[in-house]
Amino acid sequence: MLRVLMKKVVIIGSGPAGWTAALYTARANLQPFVLTGGQPGGLLTTTSIVENYPGFPEGVDGYELMTRMQKQAERFGAKASFGSVEKVDFSRRPFALVVDGETVEADAVIIATGASHRHLGAPGEDLLETKGVTYCATCDGALPVFRNQPLIVIGGGDSACEEALYLTRFGSVIHLIHRRDALRASKIMSDRVLSNPKIKPVWDSVVTEVFDVKQDKVTGVKLKNLKTGAESVLDCAGVFIAIGHAPNTGIFKGQIEMDANGYIIPKNGTMTNVPGVFMAGDCSDHVYRQAITAAGMGCAAAIDAERFLAAQDR
Ligand SMILES: Cc1cc2nc3c(=O)[nH]c(=O)nc-3n(C[C@H](O)[C@H](O)[C@H](O)COP(=O)(O)OP(=O)(O)OC[C@H]3O[C@@H](n4cnc5c(N)ncnc54)[C@H](O)[C@@H]3O)c2cc1C
Repeated sequence: MLRVLMKKVVIIGSGPAGWTAALYTARANLQPFVLTGGQPGGLLTTTSIVENYPGFPEGVDGYELMTRMQKQAERFGAKASFGSVEKVDFSRRPFALVVDGETVEADAVIIATGASHRHLGAPGEDLLETKGVTYCATCDGALPVFRNQPLIVIGGGDSACEEALYLTRFGSVIHLIHRRDALRASKIMSDRVLSNPKIKPVWDSVVTEVFDVKQDKVTGVKLKNLKTGAESVLDCAGVFIAIGHAPNTGIFKGQIEMDANGYIIPKNGTMTNVPGVFMAGDCSDHVYRQAITAAGMGCAAAIDAERFLAAQDR
């Protein structure tokens, strides 16, 4: 017979939202059970230096920050399990979650599953992922294959600018491909990018194909100018895609109310449409998307969950 674990509070996700929710629920004696998912520590573990998280005047390594958050929550009794939720049933109480084939039941659930990078959808992109196509400059930019080579960053927001600036340390030239004729990024980031002699913007253009699947490595991209329709080929050794994120909420579809893009819609603070199921962080926030705002929402969700359980007298 399959084992069923019973928990008061299950937190799905181990980014800043998840670990902050764990800290608060642990200190409220609710022995939270944190399911880390495939990316323990969340998105921040992919960045080297975090300079805008309060309390670290010199900045802090993203991985170190998340390890500290985990340790702090564990000190008060939070438990972590390296598991990904595959299925949920929020129509019954206690709630049921299927985690790597096992069932976990919970009186309250906090969803903190964050958001993932968007794919371009161009031919060659998927087949050449990890062979020159990447979604994280800080993770892969320093690889030997990219050193002193022409590189491409796709996107026009803060993330794309951050990626392009970071890559100037490694690439010979960074082509920043953007579908419009001006960046969407904040002024400070745009100014930094546009004044960097190593970054060459390519305006009004999209990548329609990534080469070369036959050679099993990135050798260039096909570009289309959206204003003129002209097509061209740009040689490069790496394609860094930074075109935004999609919330990791697919497993809640049909049970939790979401907007058209899949972001969870909050009700009464951090509550979802299902009483007892709460949400925090980037899975419901397409506006701020910062570690500190995710952590703040994690705190709020924990307090809301604690009050909900107290009212249920569980
Ligand atoms: C390169 C980069 C640099 C950044 N730099 C900064 C910065 O300097 N400052 C800043 O404030 N923000 C920065 N951010 C943004 C910041 O990382 C996010 O806003 C923040 O991590 C969101 O926290 P979160 O807890 O909502 O989600 P995430 O950190 O994305 O965590 C989501 C968690 O959910 C888990 N998960 C997903 N699906 C499941 C599932 N089915 N079952 C179980 N678990 C699941 C994942 O494994 C992960 O642990 C950066 C982001 C990136 C990509």
